[in-house]
Amino acid sequence: MPRPVKQRYIACRPRALTFKPAGIPLHDLAIILLTSDELEALRLADLLGDSQEEGAAKMNVSRPTFGRILQRARKKVAEALVLGRAIEIGGGEVIRTQHTRVRCGRCRQPWEVPASVATAFRCPHCRH
Ligand SMILES: [Zn+2]
Repeated sequence: MPRPVKQRYIACRPRALTFKPAGIPLHDLAIILLTSDELEALRLADLLGDSQEEGAAKMNVSRPTFGRILQRARKKVAEALVLGRAIEIGGGEVIRTQHTRVRCGRCRQPWEVPASVATAFRCPHCRH
């Protein structure tokens, strides 16, 4: 039996949902769908510079899952830029949230998690 997909938490709301090469009508372009969780992984890792541990905690997924989402997102963006595709953003199993800061009881390092699930979390710094 497949495991249910764990809900991914995202805090970004993009200002534009479609990107395309200038000068080519949208209907003449192949369109790549970038899901909301893929965009969030790009935002956290590549725009904010979060580590994969930090990004995973913010999205409430495991570090390997975060790495896979990020890899998919980068591949899609690279494909759009290199091959001249349009990108549409949307979809994906996500919950919109704000982040809240929590602090590790052992190493005292702060990090951020979705506000709605700010309970028992593994510290991304010392793994406590
Ligand atoms: Zn810690």
